[in-house]
Amino acid sequence: MREITELREILKPGASKKIVITTHHKPDADALGSSLGLYNFFKAYGITNVTVLSPTDYGAFLHWMPGNNSVINYEEKTTLGEKLVAEADYIFCLDFNALKRIHKLGELVRVSKAKKVMIDHHLEPEGFEDYRLWTTKASSTCELVYTFIHLWNGDKLVDKDIASCIYAGIMTDTASFKHDSTTPNTHRIAADLIEKGVDSSKIHSLIYDSYSIERMKFIGYALYEKMEYLPEYKTALITINSEEIKRFGVITGDTEGLVNYGLSIADAELAVLIIDRTVRVKMSFRSKNGFPANEFARKHFNGGGHFHAAGGESEDSLEEVIKKFKQVLPEFKQYLQ
Ligand code: 5GP
Ligand code: MN
Repeated sequence: MREITELREILKPGASKKIVITTHHKPDADALGSSLGLYNFFKAYGITNVTVLSPTDYGAFLHWMPGNNSVINYEEKTTLGEKLVAEADYIFCLDFNALKRIHKLGELVRVSKAKKVMIDHHLEPEGFEDYRLWTTKASSTCELVYTFIHLWNGDKLVDKDIASCIYAGIMTDTASFKHDSTTPNTHRIAADLIEKGVDSSKIHSLIYDSYSIERMKFIGYALYEKMEYLPEYKTALITINSEEIKRFGVITGDTEGLVNYGLSIADAELAVLIIDRTVRVKMSFRSKNGFPANEFARKHFNGGGHFHAAGGESEDSLEEVIKKFKQVLPEFKQYLQ
């Protein structure tokens, strides 16, 4: 395992290396913003053979990002995606550190002859990479892409496009500078990005004020009909079955942020969203105070993440997953006092 700075001598202006940038499935603003921030930076720096390859599609509220039109969706263009991965010299893996987070693409990346470069801020890297820029102290992967650009002496190349991608990821991963991952440095970086031309209120609006009527009604339904509060565990639980997904026409991105509502209840310390995604059941965990969401997700639901924001998945039925969740929650009651 090497430090990423060792690549400075290879990834120089004019380098003809084939670079693929990939990120986790169903990318959020940090995943896509870091990927496109880095992509736009490489272009500005004079490294032009670069492609962003997303394992899946993503929410339309991210389509404004500069460079979005050049992103290849692996689910749509599988053969091209496979070719890109097989022929790459360097594969940058952003905002994830375990290959299973990119599903089928994971094994292709693992066996590719390319050197793998991981830029990420999640706990417990699996260790598949050759080079890394990794710290859990960063608020977001976008913050680390800012660091990367600095390490490449590229600060002066950061224009409004690059800055906007990076700003978006910092803003969303900190929940608008609210989470305790927000450091003075996070604010300094945000300030610098605004000086580079970012329109912060516009980006906020593009991401958060972008709901369809259907999405708004779905959220209302989920909160009114489907949220259960378990006072003895200070836990708010929302479950969504596949019939409801169909009925409300839920599309990619529509469930983003839904889990967070539960934590707005006074006293709540854990909010959980369990959704039947047909092939698998996906779970999101958000916590306050002492509940280790990542440990819980890892131990019981094949997942992981951050201390206060984690996820997991299961191939069991929705009913079985809900039952299991309620069965194992008491094990962690000590953290929900
Ligand atoms: P979300 O609930 O937004 O899908 O995910 C929140 C965080 O949990 C993500 O930043 C990611 O770190 C982590 N996470 C979500 N799903 C999984 C999963 O299936 N496995 C692992 N290891 N982490 C996950
Ligand atoms: Mn992130």
